[in-house]
Amino acid sequence: MRDRLLSALTQLPDALAKDLSPILRRPEFDASLSANEMATLCQNHQMNEADMALALLPLAAAYAMPAISQFYVGAIAKGGSGHFYFGANLEFAHVSLAHTVHAEQSAISHAWLRGETTLSAIYINYSPCGHCRQFINELNGAEQITITLPKQPTRAFHDYLPDAFGPSDLNISEPLLAPKDNALTPEMTAAHPLYEAALAAANQSHAPYSHNYAGIACLLDNGQIFTGRYAENAAFNPSLPPLQVALNLINLADCSWHQIKEVYFVEKQGISNQLSHDMQTLCSQVAPQAQFHYHAL
Ligand SMILES: [Zn+2]
Repeated sequence: MRDRLLSALTQLPDALAKDLSPILRRPEFDASLSANEMATLCQNHQMNEADMALALLPLAAAYAMPAISQFYVGAIAKGGSGHFYFGANLEFAHVSLAHTVHAEQSAISHAWLRGETTLSAIYINYSPCGHCRQFINELNGAEQITITLPKQPTRAFHDYLPDAFGPSDLNISEPLLAPKDNALTPEMTAAHPLYEAALAAANQSHAPYSHNYAGIACLLDNGQIFTGRYAENAAFNPSLPPLQVALNLINLADCSWHQIKEVYFVEKQGISNQLSHDMQTLCSQVAPQAQFHYHAL
């Protein structure tokens, strides 16, 4: 992945690529840029923030795993903190297309898992599809978010989704990204660190429609643990399951899904749906070597 990222630098103006190269080569580079790093880049290259973010999109798109379409989409989400988070589309062979992660979902869930509770802007290298417009509509402060595409003026998100159907139509007032505590308690006497991490993720999941609170924790062979939270959507189909959230973070951390050794998936029986079958199916495809543990609450 790091090689793909560095080769994507060739798509940037030479001076900018030269400036970014040491940042991207840092071992701790985590597919994001701080507000200070972004401001320095803008100043050094006499570019405004939107133009700079657009210029950086080839780097975000370098993280794409488009196994089916070979179509590389990059997105960058600016969090309320001022931090910029990369995202890219993930496609999975041999499972339903419904498992796909879109670039906007990748950048948004990246920001969410890094602690952002609002976003102010999203930059994308292609026009957002209907699925992503609906996903963005679920976000805390969606009315404040701007969308910027190449060669287009920056526009308010709601210009891209007039007459939106959203959470309020289903009498739901809690938006995605707002801090959550679903008050789930452990049901294992000798709790395992991965179980606790998955439970903590489930406690922060967004499932106001089904109450199927769900979280996952993946242990890699290098000892790193990545978690994922379920993110439901008022239109249901654009919901993002927890394993996809974790797989996205693993990819953005320059790690491989083949490094996953063990997975703990925790979910609460909701009104209807159960995610365990889907999660095990996807896990067995992308990380067949991983031990999968399932815990229903
Ligand atoms: Zn999309």
